[in-house]
Amino acid sequence: MKNLLNSVVGHQAVIDRLTSLVTTNRLPNTLILSGAKSIGKYKTALGLGQNIFCKSKVGASACGVCGSCLRVKNEQHESLQILKSNDGLIKVDQAREVTHFLSKQNNVGEYKVVIIDGAEYMNSQSANALLKTLEEPPENCFIILVSSSLYKLLPTIRSRAQIFRFGSLTTGQLKQIKPVDDWLIELSGANLEIMEKLQDSSNQEIYMKLASSVSQLSESNYDACVKQITSFTKNKQHSLVLIQALQSLIHASYKKSLGMSMQKIDWQEPALERLSALTQSQIMELFTESVKFEYYQKSNFDILLIFESLFLKLISYFNGEAHHASMDRYSYTP
Ligand SMILES: [Zn+2]
Repeated sequence: MKNLLNSVVGHQAVIDRLTSLVTTNRLPNTLILSGAKSIGKYKTALGLGQNIFCKSKVGASACGVCGSCLRVKNEQHESLQILKSNDGLIKVDQAREVTHFLSKQNNVGEYKVVIIDGAEYMNSQSANALLKTLEEPPENCFIILVSSSLYKLLPTIRSRAQIFRFGSLTTGQLKQIKPVDDWLIELSGANLEIMEKLQDSSNQEIYMKLASSVSQLSESNYDACVKQITSFTKNKQHSLVLIQALQSLIHASYKKSLGMSMQKIDWQEPALERLSALTQSQIMELFTESVKFEYYQKSNFDILLIFESLFLKLISYFNGEAHHASMDRYSYTP
């Protein structure tokens, strides 16, 4: 049977580094595993736990089958404490449980491991409750913070930890984790979180409707095109998917303009054909704007207004005009 580290897909360099740090007793007391969602960081954290606790190691690797390895795998090891967010929050009480757990006397030479999954969900109270422990961790204790939003962690937490970055996975590796079609990988920009969303057909419909709107966009057709996407702008989750659909479309258009090889998606082609009239700097400008849309969405801006403005800009691009100054009254810049 494999140990958990062996079953993580990809990330070989960072796993080798972590394993070697355990073997040579140089593993930092506080570490952050940082990278995109669902790519194997949490499994790596548990695997490190196996590696730290296993007493029947084969070379540098945990055996994967002893009682200790199995209890870690089942998240039930007596010297392992796991914190996960509830409703998008790690509460101060949970943080206090960690300090209490770590303050209990260890048997000589025994290790303790704490894994905080979704460390970005700690609010300032819970982060502050942990700061002292992170500053002076008890002997033989390891705190592993797992996070997909490194910048959301308090700087005081980040500065006390050693950061291990998990890069993106190749298409082949993604397919090993999740057997999906190539076009879904293409559409999601090889992002597992978005890929999962796209397996829901109602989210796929948002991508298709946006592409359809863009392909038909003209002055005379403007109202109809806006209408196609209006309902999606009224709901927080759908408006985020709509923005991701826009980013995906612009990204595809950029790849096409560079002549890069890409998976052909039939319903996307008419929109890409239409966008091929844009210059590369116009595409880049659109992309920069679409990234800001995520911030607007989080800040409860009117997403419909933002897309209306975007459509007007696209029409002016399609008509071969530079973005007209008179349109600035539609500007969504706050
Ligand atoms: Zn073992």
